[in-house]
Amino acid sequence: MSKTYTNPETIGLHAGWRKDDNTNSVAVPIHQTTSYQFDNTDHAANLFALSELGNIYSRIMNPTCAVLEDRIAALEGGVGALAVASGQAASAYAIQNIAKNGDNIVASSHLYGGTYNQFKNVFSDMGIEVRFVDPSDPQNFADATDDKTRAYYGEVLPNPSFEVFPISEVADIGRPLGIPLIVDNTAAPVICKPFDHGAAVVIHSTTKFIGGHGTSIGGIIVDSGNFDWEAFPERQPALNNPDPSYAGAVWTEAVKPLGPIAYILKARTTILRDMGAAMSPFNAFMFIQGLETLALRMREHSSNAQKVSEYLSSHDSVERVAYPSQMDGYAKDRADKYLSKGNGALMGFEIKGGVEAGKKFIDALEMLYHVANIGDSRSLAIHPASTTHSQLNEEELLSAGVTPGYVRLSIGLEHVDDIIADIDQALAKI
Ligand code: PLP
Repeated sequence: MSKTYTNPETIGLHAGWRKDDNTNSVAVPIHQTTSYQFDNTDHAANLFALSELGNIYSRIMNPTCAVLEDRIAALEGGVGALAVASGQAASAYAIQNIAKNGDNIVASSHLYGGTYNQFKNVFSDMGIEVRFVDPSDPQNFADATDDKTRAYYGEVLPNPSFEVFPISEVADIGRPLGIPLIVDNTAAPVICKPFDHGAAVVIHSTTKFIGGHGTSIGGIIVDSGNFDWEAFPERQPALNNPDPSYAGAVWTEAVKPLGPIAYILKARTTILRDMGAAMSPFNAFMFIQGLETLALRMREHSSNAQKVSEYLSSHDSVERVAYPSQMDGYAKDRADKYLSKGNGALMGFEIKGGVEAGKKFIDALEMLYHVANIGDSRSLAIHPASTTHSQLNEEELLSAGVTPGYVRLSIGLEHVDDIIADIDQALAKI
């Protein structure tokens, strides 16, 4: 691949792959193999020493996963990526790569419920403290920072509040301190490019829009290459001190000849190697199929969702609609600043009548699926307080933006008239 493309429609079809050199196959083959024959002992030694990059074992790298990694790195404008088994593995590894027992990160409180649980419970059991702050005021990130803060974390289009994260505002606070901003861009691929606004690392649950068809679980971590880890040896010891888990390698020095990929190469060769949540080549193949139409789908999702949000906003049974284009104040300003190609598929709304009305609405739907997922080509609905966010207490629910009668929609690719007709008949039954 010699040419570099910048348009997401073209990247989704061409980045990182032209054809198979042995067979001329155009579709990316599924390399369903665990291991790779070394040319000779020197070749094997070079691969293990990272003086040469190449395939060793499919827990650490795989040629089908590599095409997906190259394509998503190109889509986000990064220098490298690491495919893993789920979005949950992506958020965990993105942080474990630079934070350990005794360290902390500062995270937005507007997070997917599963991420919140991971941070609040599993990370605290591991000795990594997560300090949750309200992202409406970026200064909250600065106020929660101390010498042991290794990263800031947020969700670009957070589920379920849908108030866009202040990417450049928080990245600008962290960068002079040596603190990278890691963002979850699961809900806004193509429509937001966090690296253009100063984020250092992006993660995705590829399970959602990238897969796009509700078939496969996966995740990915993307390195922008724009963060100067080496300039902050005390703030970022994991990348600047000798690493006993890789023969004393100092990642920022050892990796220099290969480009600004210290963060993502360390994640692959230590965290993924040791924790093991690798993406299967078959799932990588499915995500590559999804990427081919991602840009087109995001356009159509956004167009359908815009019309649904307008319909809901004018409906008598609806108390409020949470969709970026329907917001005002700072939330609208951020949506306008960061969502350059549509406002996405996701929205929430509060039905008059609270919990009971919300449940009746869900039960009355005929076409929309009632499932715990987002980003499918089909339209989906769920009641977060009794499902995805049910482990949170009342205070945590409110800080995550979930009220009792709140319904979340993931608007799909059916004809918009059919989507609105199904919502309309369900609202008539509450
Ligand atoms: N991030 C976001 C925004 C999500 O919505 C989800 C899942 O719903 C995840 C991460 C976790 O992804 P996965 O289900 O692939 O582990």
